Amino acid sequence: MLRHDVVIVGAGLAGLRAAVTLGDLPGVDVAIISKLHPLRSHSGAAEGGINAALTPDDRWEDHMYDTVKGSDYVSDQDAVEVMCREAPAEVYWLEHAGTLFNRADDGTLAIRNFGGAGRPRTAFVADITGHALLHTLYEQTVARGVKVYEEWFVTELVVENEQVKGLVALDVMTGELHQVAAKAVIMATGGYGRVYHGRTTNAWSSTGDGMAAAYRAGVPLADMEFVQFHPTTLKSNGVLLTEGNRGEGGYLLNSLGERFMSKYTPTKMELGPRDMVSRAEIIEINEGRGVDGCVLLDIRHLGEAKIMERLPGTRELSMHFAGVDPVYEPIPVRPGQHYAMGGVRTDLNGVTVVKGLYAAGECACVSVHGANRLGANSLLDTLIFGRRSAEHAYEYVKNVPPPEASESYLQREEDRTRAMLGREGTESIAQIRNEMGLEMADNMGVFRTPEQMQHAVSAIRELKERVKDAPVQDKGRIFNTDLTGALEIENMLELAEVISVGALARTESRGAHSRLDFPDRDDVNWLKHTLAFRGEGGPRLEYGPVTITRFQPEERKY
Ligand SMILES: Cc1cc2nc3c(=O)[nH]c(=O)nc-3n(C[C@H](O)[C@H](O)[C@H](O)COP(=O)(O)OP(=O)(O)OC[C@H]3O[C@@H](n4cnc5c(N)ncnc54)[C@H](O)[C@@H]3O)c2cc1C
Repeated sequence: MLRHDVVIVGAGLAGLRAAVTLGDLPGVDVAIISKLHPLRSHSGAAEGGINAALTPDDRWEDHMYDTVKGSDYVSDQDAVEVMCREAPAEVYWLEHAGTLFNRADDGTLAIRNFGGAGRPRTAFVADITGHALLHTLYEQTVARGVKVYEEWFVTELVVENEQVKGLVALDVMTGELHQVAAKAVIMATGGYGRVYHGRTTNAWSSTGDGMAAAYRAGVPLADMEFVQFHPTTLKSNGVLLTEGNRGEGGYLLNSLGERFMSKYTPTKMELGPRDMVSRAEIIEINEGRGVDGCVLLDIRHLGEAKIMERLPGTRELSMHFAGVDPVYEPIPVRPGQHYAMGGVRTDLNGVTVVKGLYAAGECACVSVHGANRLGANSLLDTLIFGRRSAEHAYEYVKNVPPPEASESYLQREEDRTRAMLGREGTESIAQIRNEMGLEMADNMGVFRTPEQMQHAVSAIRELKERVKDAPVQDKGRIFNTDLTGALEIENMLELAEVISVGALARTESRGAHSRLDFPDRDDVNWLKHTLAFRGEGGPRLEYGPVTITRFQPEERKY
């Protein structure tokens, strides 16, 4: 059996930040397991930037206030405080580690405006910030000699007596399953955007595997009903155009040529928070002021020079995927699934209810984003809590003996995958994935009715049954992406169910969860976290308190 003190699952920003932290500490054997090469992680697709109070006129307290208000007051303020306090040092650390951030004329780090922020505080590298950060952290990981198991797919955690003992992973190249013993496991597996297959900005690999594995291991998933929709995605394929477009001064127009955000968030205009801008777009479209099911993002007035300096990715993506050159024409956009506010419930150090099991990054719910994340707070979240999880895990493993776990887990996973390969039904995994994506997009979208949510719960449960008859077509061992796809769809259906059941239960509107039958926020009954535990026949919901320290809930106005 392979053995390490700490195994990090995932090599996006959260996983690599944890690896670099542990790589600097003496006497700990650390490895990363990732189903992708690290540089292909979805973090590399992040465009707009990373938040930190960097300028003399900004304060971390202001960043905290904006984040708490943006979250619709259901974030935990102790966690938000940690993130915002530690943000400036983290951004400078990245800069010293080699990230070439854009600069202002005086040589300090340039910052841009972003949604829901009281003032500009987003540091950036043109519109390829995630790409730049991921390369920096990968270099730093390689420099520390951290072992990486590349293209190894983690299928299950090994947990005995509420303590993690390691995991089971499929080496995709050979098709062999391995049990890996570990004193601590840090889950950094990212989001589940592909649950909204076809209507998401997320990579094909964002299938929520780590959330599903933790859920199966008895860890509650928190606040899964809060799903972020980004206001500017392309209609044909969900590809994202960064909020940086509006941060640099871009307009949103309806079919009458009006900057319609003046009606919805008049003080912020296009830079309202994402939940409100997405709702405004849907209202405009539903009331007949859309353009072919979209609204228009107009950056023409910024001029070609600025577009090429700060938003070259937007131009390239628009030309390739929408056939529109934004230097000359506005781009049709609409809301698309973008981010998971919910995830594996953790404390400020990534600790879960299972001893030795940590979670960080988009797969975790610390909770700093509450019901609605502010743009450019996620890259920050991955780094701060990736590092903190690693620091805590380092102390934890010092006092834990090498784990002794039975190899029955390996046997179980071998049996499970063999059974998947042996299925002979007539269902198709691809078809089920498409149906799941449409179901979630149509019925668990920006606005939700009880009928829609009930429809989603039933439809997802039906798909969970049907998938049992969906054969894996490729029977081979080597690079069997049909098999990993089958493992992923089971994970996604599990999460889709938790999202839908949690949403149906929450009878209020808060942040990204907007119900037509309960249009108002209800602090008396619902200022609390949803905690979904896996039970017989579906999730069992409990609720937990929200930590409020500095800012009492107020009506959200922008
Ligand atoms: C297009 C786009 C643009 C964005 N722009 C911004 C932005 O400008 N600013 C901002 O703050 N946020 C942005 N976000 C959000 C942010 O990028 C993500 O939330 C964040 O990068 C997630 O990082 P992560 O480390 O948690 O996970 P990821 O980067 O998604 O990495 C997940 C890792 O887990 C591994 N993994 C997953 N499942 C398994 C498994 N079963 N076995 C083994 N390994 C596994 C993968 O191989 C991968 O290495 C953007 C997101 C998208 C999609």
